[in-house]
Amino acid sequence: QTSTKQPPLPSPLRFSKFFQSNMRILVTGGAGFIGSHLVDRLMENEKNEVIVADNYFTGSKDNLKKWIGHPRFELIRHDVTEPLLIEVDQIYHLACPASPIFYKYNPVKTIKTNVIGTLNMLGLAKRVGARFGFLLYFQRNLKCCYKLFLIGSNFFARILLTSTSEVYGDPLVHPQPESYWGNVNPIGVRSCYDEGKRVAETLMFDYHRQHGLEIRIARIFNTYGPRMNIDDGRVVSNFIAQALRGEPLTVQSPGTQTRSFCYVSDMVDGLIRLMEGPNTGPINLGNPGEFTMVELAETVKELINPKVEIKMVENTPDDPRQRKPDITQAKELLGWEPKIKLRDGLPRMEEDFRLRLGVDKSN
Ligand code: NAD
Ligand code: UDP
Ligand code: UDP
Repeated sequence: QTSTKQPPLPSPLRFSKFFQSNMRILVTGGAGFIGSHLVDRLMENEKNEVIVADNYFTGSKDNLKKWIGHPRFELIRHDVTEPLLIEVDQIYHLACPASPIFYKYNPVKTIKTNVIGTLNMLGLAKRVGARFGFLLYFQRNLKCCYKLFLIGSNFFARILLTSTSEVYGDPLVHPQPESYWGNVNPIGVRSCYDEGKRVAETLMFDYHRQHGLEIRIARIFNTYGPRMNIDDGRVVSNFIAQALRGEPLTVQSPGTQTRSFCYVSDMVDGLIRLMEGPNTGPINLGNPGEFTMVELAETVKELINPKVEIKMVENTPDDPRQRKPDITQAKELLGWEPKIKLRDGLPRMEEDFRLRLGVDKSN
């Protein structure tokens, strides 16, 4: 059992509700694929004010266009490797390129984003807490009870890190439970991402143990849906774009490697449940349905364009051979499991890709 429970009372949520009407939530990487869907869901609650900090490396303002100008929404061009001084109650820390093409493009920057970026967000969460500690320190001088000070020191902004199934590397345990420590190449071309996320998780737990920060860690497995970057090289976006363009679906050899694909609305639901609940995690969030890349190509071909070929191409180094989440903890602790099957999710994504690629149904 890697998850630890935290006392429910001194949550910033309650504090925030008592002193101010709105909850101010920072979403780093909110202009990206998962981040923008998360922002849509958070904005549905009128009590939420949402601030997005993003450097637009892989994200786009387009993903957030319906919120720009909204009184409860703010968009900041900001790189998380630089310090950020704002006041917030919760932090969803997503900023980091997720597609292998983009995270390998500038690996040093990817490590900085994971390590320095996470350190800065933890520093921010801690500083916001210090504000309340200071306030209650004066109350203590006025002979207010000591207990109040202890509670006060817990009023940190709660921070959730989107970690990844890549922390399991090329896993030797299948499916992967949270207790598995992984099989990661520390000097390979993927290490900037997977070792970067492993250090980010370490930092989260060290701030939790050393400073009492309220942390949440989600280990996200492959997620797909509308607004994925069309040309980011990830397998689902590649296959759908190729099928719509009438190009061969490029299965990287051997094609027997497996992945489990979670539809983005299910993922967002899991992230919010984790943030609002009492468990630190790490908790796996993903869809346990497991497919080989050949099976995925055949499904896309059948559903989107039966005329396209499936072509075998060379693979990249260190490609994990199998991946499937054990979601027992998510079910038991969050009451969460994915609702949308791959066959139902792919057509929803197809619509969005058709619009963006300008390919209509008759093609
Ligand atoms: P994405 O690339 O669409 O979004 C990432 C966002 O972070 C982009 O908007 C990008 O511009 C921004 N960003 C990158 N570096 C930044 C920096 N230094 N400062 C500020 N902003 C920066 O990716 P996504 O699929 O939405 O992934 C979001 C998070 O979920 C990432 O942390 C990723 O590691 C994690 N994750 C995603 C998946 C998946 O399948 N999509 C799987 C596992 C983990
Ligand atoms: N930080 C930040 N915003 C804040 C507070 C801190 O970006 O509101 C950064 C700060 O620049 C530092 C990091 O977070 O690099 C860690 O901060 P912490 O206070 O934990 O450590 P220290 O500054 O003592 O190294
Ligand atoms: N893949 C593929 N064809 C592509 C792109 C990827 O067969 O056009 C394979 C890749 O080799 C890997 C799997 O799909 O085994 C998932 O790759 P992706 O880059 O989407 O995600 P990750 O490797 O991070 O799970």
